[in-house]
Amino acid sequence: AALERAGARARPVRRAGELAEVDGLVLPGGESTTMSRLLASFELLDPLRERVRSGMPALGSCAGLVLLAREVLDGRPDQHQLDGLDVVVRRNAFGRQVDSFETDLAVRGVDDGPVHAVFIRAPWVEKAGDDVEVLARVPDTPEAGAAADRIVAVRQGRVLATAFHPELTGDARVHGLFVRTVSEVA
Ligand code: GLN
Repeated sequence: AALERAGARARPVRRAGELAEVDGLVLPGGESTTMSRLLASFELLDPLRERVRSGMPALGSCAGLVLLAREVLDGRPDQHQLDGLDVVVRRNAFGRQVDSFETDLAVRGVDDGPVHAVFIRAPWVEKAGDDVEVLARVPDTPEAGAAADRIVAVRQGRVLATAFHPELTGDARVHGLFVRTVSEVA
Protein backbone atom coordinates (compact mmCIF):
# COMPACT_ATOMS: atom_id res chain seq x y z
CA ALA A 1 0.00 0.00 0.00
CA ALA A 2 2.85 2.40 0.84
CA LEU A 3 4.45 1.71 -2.54
CA GLU A 4 1.20 2.35 -4.37
CA ARG A 5 0.78 5.62 -2.44
CA ALA A 6 4.23 6.54 -3.74
CA GLY A 7 3.12 5.85 -7.32
CA ALA A 8 4.46 2.33 -7.92
CA ARG A 9 2.67 -0.85 -8.90
CA ALA A 10 3.38 -3.33 -6.10
CA ARG A 11 3.32 -7.13 -6.08
CA PRO A 12 4.57 -9.78 -3.71
CA VAL A 13 7.80 -11.61 -4.53
CA ARG A 14 8.18 -15.12 -3.18
CA ARG A 15 9.97 -17.00 -5.97
CA ALA A 16 12.95 -16.39 -8.22
CA GLY A 17 10.63 -16.12 -11.25
CA GLU A 18 8.76 -13.27 -9.56
CA LEU A 19 12.01 -11.57 -8.59
CA ALA A 20 13.07 -11.59 -12.23
CA GLU A 21 9.93 -9.64 -13.19
CA VAL A 22 10.23 -6.64 -10.85
CA ASP A 23 12.17 -3.40 -11.38
CA GLY A 24 12.92 -2.97 -7.69
CA LEU A 25 12.47 -4.79 -4.42
CA VAL A 26 11.41 -3.90 -0.90
CA LEU A 27 12.92 -6.03 1.84
CA PRO A 28 10.45 -5.33 4.62
CA GLY A 29 10.64 -5.55 8.37
CA GLY A 30 10.11 -8.84 10.11
CA GLU A 31 12.71 -11.12 11.59
CA SER A 32 15.96 -11.13 9.65
CA THR A 33 17.07 -14.56 10.88
CA THR A 34 13.80 -16.14 9.66
CA MET A 35 13.86 -14.17 6.41
CA SER A 36 17.44 -15.29 5.84
CA ARG A 37 16.46 -18.92 6.36
CA LEU A 38 13.44 -18.59 4.03
CA LEU A 39 15.55 -16.88 1.34
CA ALA A 40 17.82 -19.92 1.40
CA SER A 41 15.04 -22.52 1.36
CA PHE A 42 13.13 -20.74 -1.43
CA GLU A 43 16.39 -20.58 -3.42
CA LEU A 44 16.23 -16.81 -3.57
CA LEU A 45 19.54 -16.03 -1.95
CA ASP A 46 21.78 -16.26 -5.03
CA PRO A 47 19.33 -14.66 -7.49
CA LEU A 48 18.73 -11.84 -5.03
CA ARG A 49 22.44 -11.23 -4.41
CA GLU A 50 22.96 -11.25 -8.16
CA ARG A 51 20.22 -8.68 -8.82
CA VAL A 52 21.41 -6.40 -6.02
CA ARG A 53 24.97 -6.67 -7.35
CA SER A 54 23.83 -5.77 -10.85
CA GLY A 55 22.08 -2.61 -9.68
CA MET A 56 18.44 -3.42 -8.95
CA PRO A 57 16.99 -0.67 -6.72
CA ALA A 58 16.19 -1.98 -3.26
CA LEU A 59 14.60 -0.55 -0.14
CA GLY A 60 15.25 -2.29 3.16
CA SER A 61 13.51 -1.43 6.38
CA CYS A 62 14.51 -2.76 9.78
CA ALA A 63 15.07 -6.50 9.18
CA GLY A 64 15.52 -5.54 5.50
CA LEU A 65 18.43 -3.29 6.51
CA VAL A 66 19.94 -6.17 8.48
CA LEU A 67 19.71 -8.45 5.42
CA LEU A 68 21.20 -5.88 3.05
CA ALA A 69 24.19 -5.14 5.26
CA ARG A 70 27.68 -6.49 4.63
CA GLU A 71 27.97 -7.60 8.24
CA VAL A 72 25.68 -8.05 11.24
CA LEU A 73 26.55 -7.90 14.94
CA ASP A 74 24.37 -9.79 17.43
CA GLY A 75 22.92 -11.84 14.59
CA ARG A 76 22.78 -15.60 14.34
CA PRO A 77 26.11 -17.06 13.21
CA ASP A 78 24.40 -18.76 10.25
CA GLN A 79 22.47 -15.67 9.14
CA HIS A 80 23.03 -14.79 5.45
CA GLN A 81 23.96 -11.29 4.29
CA LEU A 82 23.06 -9.85 0.89
CA ASP A 83 26.03 -7.46 1.01
CA GLY A 84 24.19 -4.69 -0.81
CA LEU A 85 25.39 -2.01 1.63
CA ASP A 86 28.90 -1.47 2.94
CA VAL A 87 27.67 -1.21 6.51
CA VAL A 88 27.97 -3.11 9.77
CA VAL A 89 24.61 -3.21 11.56
CA ARG A 90 23.83 -4.15 15.12
CA ARG A 91 20.68 -6.21 15.35
CA ASN A 92 18.16 -5.29 18.10
CA ALA A 93 20.53 -2.42 18.92
CA PHE A 94 17.97 -0.25 20.73
CA GLY A 95 17.02 -3.07 23.08
CA ARG A 96 14.10 -5.44 23.41
CA GLN A 97 10.53 -5.21 22.14
CA VAL A 98 9.59 -2.91 25.07
CA ASP A 99 12.28 -0.46 23.97
CA SER A 100 10.52 0.14 20.65
CA PHE A 101 9.92 3.86 20.18
CA GLU A 102 8.89 6.63 17.79
CA THR A 103 10.66 9.88 17.00
CA ASP A 104 10.80 12.62 14.38
CA LEU A 105 13.82 12.49 12.11
CA ALA A 106 15.29 14.79 9.52
CA VAL A 107 15.97 12.56 6.51
CA ARG A 108 18.33 13.79 3.83
CA GLY A 109 16.59 13.92 0.45
CA VAL A 110 13.13 14.11 2.02
CA ASP A 111 11.73 17.64 1.85
CA ASP A 112 8.90 19.32 3.73
CA GLY A 113 9.75 18.50 7.29
CA PRO A 114 10.78 15.57 9.46
CA VAL A 115 9.71 11.97 9.02
CA HIS A 116 7.88 10.36 11.91
CA ALA A 117 9.92 7.20 12.42
CA VAL A 118 8.64 4.05 14.11
CA PHE A 119 11.39 1.81 15.50
CA ILE A 120 10.38 -1.76 16.37
CA ARG A 121 13.19 -3.84 17.84
CA ALA A 122 15.32 -2.00 15.35
CA PRO A 123 18.94 -2.30 14.31
CA TRP A 124 21.26 0.67 13.92
CA VAL A 125 24.20 1.14 11.58
CA GLU A 126 27.32 0.86 13.65
CA LYS A 127 29.81 1.49 10.84
CA ALA A 128 29.34 2.84 7.32
CA GLY A 129 31.88 2.69 4.50
CA ASP A 130 33.06 5.73 2.54
CA ASP A 131 30.62 5.13 -0.31
CA VAL A 132 27.62 5.06 2.00
CA GLU A 133 25.57 8.23 2.27
CA VAL A 134 24.14 8.76 5.75
CA LEU A 135 20.54 9.99 5.41
CA ALA A 136 19.46 10.14 9.05
CA ARG A 137 20.72 9.86 12.60
CA VAL A 138 18.90 9.68 15.92
CA PRO A 139 18.75 13.22 17.33
CA ASP A 140 21.31 13.87 20.04
CA THR A 141 18.99 14.59 22.99
CA PRO A 142 19.50 13.65 26.66
CA GLU A 143 16.73 11.01 26.51
CA ALA A 144 18.33 9.32 23.45
CA GLY A 145 21.08 7.89 25.69
CA ALA A 146 23.27 5.39 23.83
CA ALA A 147 21.12 5.81 20.72
CA ALA A 148 22.11 9.47 20.29
CA ASP A 149 23.59 10.17 16.87
CA ARG A 150 23.29 6.56 15.68
CA ILE A 151 22.86 6.14 11.93
CA VAL A 152 19.35 4.96 11.05
CA ALA A 153 18.98 5.63 7.32
CA VAL A 154 21.53 5.09 4.56
CA ARG A 155 21.90 4.96 0.81
CA GLN A 156 24.57 3.44 -1.38
CA GLY A 157 24.00 3.59 -5.10
CA ARG A 158 20.49 2.28 -5.67
CA VAL A 159 20.13 0.64 -2.27
CA LEU A 160 18.27 2.59 0.38
CA ALA A 161 17.62 1.34 3.90
CA THR A 162 16.10 2.52 7.14
CA ALA A 163 16.23 1.10 10.65
CA PHE A 164 12.64 2.31 11.11
CA HIS A 165 9.37 1.39 9.38
CA PRO A 166 8.46 4.11 6.86
CA GLU A 167 5.34 2.19 5.75
CA LEU A 168 3.48 2.54 9.05
CA THR A 169 2.66 6.23 9.17
CA GLY A 170 0.86 7.00 5.89
CA ASP A 171 3.77 9.24 4.85
CA ALA A 172 4.92 8.12 1.39
CA ARG A 173 8.05 10.29 1.18
CA VAL A 174 10.68 7.64 1.98
CA HIS A 175 9.04 5.18 -0.41
CA GLY A 176 8.95 8.10 -2.85
CA LEU A 177 12.76 8.27 -2.81
CA PHE A 178 12.91 4.58 -3.67
CA VAL A 179 10.19 4.78 -6.35
CA ARG A 180 12.01 7.68 -7.99
CA THR A 181 15.15 5.54 -8.28
CA VAL A 182 13.11 2.64 -9.67
CA SER A 183 11.54 4.83 -12.37
CA GLU A 184 14.91 6.32 -13.32
CA VAL A 185 16.36 2.85 -13.81
CA ALA A 186 13.28 1.35 -15.49
N1 GLN B 1 14.70 -7.45 15.31
C1 GLN B 1 14.39 -7.85 13.97
C2 GLN B 1 15.57 -8.53 13.31
O1 GLN B 1 16.61 -8.62 13.84
C3 GLN B 1 13.94 -6.69 13.12
C4 GLN B 1 12.64 -6.13 13.60
C5 GLN B 1 11.85 -5.40 12.53
O2 GLN B 1 12.01 -5.64 11.34
N2 GLN B 1 10.95 -4.58 12.98
O3 GLN B 1 15.49 -8.99 12.22
